[in-house]
Amino acid sequence: MTTQEHVGTERAELLAEADKRTLIHPHSVIGAPAEPLVLDRGEGAVVWDVNGKSYIDGTCGLWQCPVGHGRDELAAAAAEQMGRLEFYSSFGDYSNEPAIRLAERLLELAPPNMRRVFLTNGGSEGNETAIKLARLAHHHAGNPERFVILAREGGYHGMGGGSLAATGIDRLREGYGPLMPGIEFLAKPHSVRGADVTDRLVGELEERIAEIGPERIAAFIGEPVLGVGGMVPPPEDYWPRVQDVLRRHGILLVVDEVVTAFGRIGHWFGSARYGIEPDLIVTAKGLTSGYIPMGAVLAGERVLDLADGAAFLHGFTYNGHPVGSAVALANIGVLEREGLLERAETLGARLLAALKPLERLDRVLEVRGVGMMLGVELTGPDAATAAAGVQAGARADGVIVRASGTTIVLSPPLVIDEGRLDTLARVLTEHVTAA
Ligand code: PLP
Repeated sequence: MTTQEHVGTERAELLAEADKRTLIHPHSVIGAPAEPLVLDRGEGAVVWDVNGKSYIDGTCGLWQCPVGHGRDELAAAAAEQMGRLEFYSSFGDYSNEPAIRLAERLLELAPPNMRRVFLTNGGSEGNETAIKLARLAHHHAGNPERFVILAREGGYHGMGGGSLAATGIDRLREGYGPLMPGIEFLAKPHSVRGADVTDRLVGELEERIAEIGPERIAAFIGEPVLGVGGMVPPPEDYWPRVQDVLRRHGILLVVDEVVTAFGRIGHWFGSARYGIEPDLIVTAKGLTSGYIPMGAVLAGERVLDLADGAAFLHGFTYNGHPVGSAVALANIGVLEREGLLERAETLGARLLAALKPLERLDRVLEVRGVGMMLGVELTGPDAATAAAGVQAGARADGVIVRASGTTIVLSPPLVIDEGRLDTLARVLTEHVTAA
């Protein structure tokens, strides 16, 4: 008998047992499977497990779901496109209508100097693409030695060869042998409780450029707001000053907006929030609200001028996927029609205000956030264990939050109602207070 033939508690137990016997989960310990939370369905800001227990989704899964769970409109867009043309490669001269329409739509919404779109399957692949394109652009323009990528401690760009190499989180990098060479790290752009750190960060950037030699540096990569690194908004003057320095040295700016794009911080692109003029923008997650894996890399004028005429022999089978593109278009339609970008600002301010009093606790280093990207950072030698304990305790009480190192990260769907948002804040407050 298979698990499908059982119902109720028996089904739940069999599924859990089969999960542990068969799957390797991302971010799990090989040979020591965790007790899985087997989810069954979702609606809005709530998901249910196979036992029927409900959870307020305080993280949107992995931040991917601004329009919330269970939207028939997105399912219908996928089904309609699958019935018409499920897939055809977009290598070379092949194309399809949803991909073309999505590219047009993205360029309408993007910062003004963006000119072209490369559609991907997710964030890591987007960053691989952006890093390769930045390097290729300089190579093609006659500067093949210009390949160094500047990245930052605390930055997260994914799990591929280049995207992991540019990720500044040590615990994720260990054990895989040499990663992609030519990546240099700068300090984490974190101003704890508003301390003035921009002078130091910009000074370090100038020094490192001088040491390495600007003629060797292809690009700088960074998230507008550090996500996995702890939901860290930068000081307001950080990005304008960083991009001035980069511009002066002809260094391209790759902005990783895998989390910040599509409303999470109140704008279509987080770059608009911080006055950033990127050369390349990497998106994923919120593009389709995760209903289907998809990402997009947007390329600006400068990089396209440098790369003009270069053969870009890069691509993955499912790039330009018509079903993903159709879902993305439907998702963008929902974000727009329901005013969810504005909602991110209002709800984010409400949640931040509700959690800010936690800063009075010795256990709490900082409560911070911008739009619907918030973090509660714990302190103390056991802070990471305590954060994991908060995650487990809140889940037992029907609220999903996520411990990322020492920070509890929050990014609810933008459709969450005020009542559930307040419950999320109350449950989190209880568990952090007890941590
Ligand atoms: N970049 C950022 C900022 C991310 O947060 C993530 C994933 O969390 C990625 C890239 C990698 O995206 P994916 O997991 O879709 O490959």
